[in-house]
Amino acid sequence: MEKKAEVIIIGAGPAGSTAATVLARRNFDILLIDKCQFPRDKVCGGVLTAKSMKLLEKIHPGVVFSLNLKPITKVSFGYPGTERKNESITYIYKKPLFYVATRKELDNALMENALRNGAKYENDAIIRIERLDDGFICHGRSGNTYSAPYVVIAAGVFGHNLLENTSKISYSIAYKAQTASVPITTATINFHDFGYTWILPGKGFFNVGIGSYDNSLTYADAENIVKKLFNFPIGKLNAAPLPMFDKTISVDLNNMVPGCLFVGDSGGFVDPWTGEGISFAMETGFCSAKAIIEKGGDRLKVNDDFLGRIRRIGIHLQIAGILREKLTTTLPERFDLLSDIRMAKLLYVYLNGYLKGIDRLMIKGFFFQGVKGIETR
Ligand SMILES: Cc1cc2nc3c(=O)[nH]c(=O)nc-3n(C[C@H](O)[C@H](O)[C@H](O)COP(=O)(O)OP(=O)(O)OC[C@H]3O[C@@H](n4cnc5c(N)ncnc54)[C@H](O)[C@@H]3O)c2cc1C
Repeated sequence: MEKKAEVIIIGAGPAGSTAATVLARRNFDILLIDKCQFPRDKVCGGVLTAKSMKLLEKIHPGVVFSLNLKPITKVSFGYPGTERKNESITYIYKKPLFYVATRKELDNALMENALRNGAKYENDAIIRIERLDDGFICHGRSGNTYSAPYVVIAAGVFGHNLLENTSKISYSIAYKAQTASVPITTATINFHDFGYTWILPGKGFFNVGIGSYDNSLTYADAENIVKKLFNFPIGKLNAAPLPMFDKTISVDLNNMVPGCLFVGDSGGFVDPWTGEGISFAMETGFCSAKAIIEKGGDRLKVNDDFLGRIRRIGIHLQIAGILREKLTTTLPERFDLLSDIRMAKLLYVYLNGYLKGIDRLMIKGFFFQGVKGIETR
């Protein structure tokens, strides 16, 4: 069967559901296609920063109130792999640094919001996209085809493979488990030689995970490390890739085919310092919708318009790359840096919005008054 729409959106994660909501609200005929039946889970820390919260309130008003979010005002950091294994540094903030959500609940709420606004949903896996002079035909595993003049690819980190292209996004691997209880009360992030681990308290659950800075950490390694490091029973570990932002690749992908935009993980839009991707998924989804609404009469102009709209995200993500290199990967030697209150301030300001430069970050951090204290142990 062939189905037609004005815009086809592949993937109903935060990127796809946001694009669908914004376009459907402007009466575009939208087909939102996902290979999963919703509600579905996604391997993720579930951290919603102020950037994510602002976007949720702006684009999906009402959804925030329906979610069971746990506010986090205390975060501990440690470097257990060294002789400093018993030391930790805890930042305590006056307002939440972030909230913890479950992706099952969040993504389902966003997807339902898109449908409430008029988008249509199709449960199918797209296996190939055929390019025509005036649009696209997306071929589903079911045998159905879906055609439209515009396609937004929001299908997660491997979405860029749906069209033949030479720009390949590289990625790191992370593993996550959900667990009923752990013997800690604060959010904890520890740095190790292989990467990092996290324990995040949610409402009625703990989100536990392990990540690496590249894709070399195997499932067996992750299981062994977790058994050694966590002295409490944890649920089943699930793996997922985390795209590594590379400006050239993200721009190339979005310059490749008129009328085809790559958003969220499919465009590589994840913060290389913190691993935050939900806000960038919603923001790039929003920008793709805006580009189609504003320049939809001319397929050649849509891609340029989109790239113009995401320029500030690109600047932020490039700064993130510098912070990752200067701070995280050299952390063993710089662990004392973490006990400096300026780092606690910088982290809050950094997570709160898009940055225009490192100097601006420093200045904003200097004047920030929201740190209640720092505890070192
Ligand atoms: C372990 C881990 C922890 C993370 N923790 C955080 C965190 O705490 N906070 C944060 O902000 N970010 C975090 N991230 C990043 C975040 O999960 C992603 O950046 C975010 O989910 C990207 O959203 P998206 O909409 O682009 O893609 P996704 O959320 O991956 O959604 C893609 C959708 O596309 C569908 N799909 C895929 N292929 C096809 C196909 N061929 N046809 C049809 N449908 C398809 C999938 O079923 C899925 O529903 C984490 C990532 C990992 C791996």
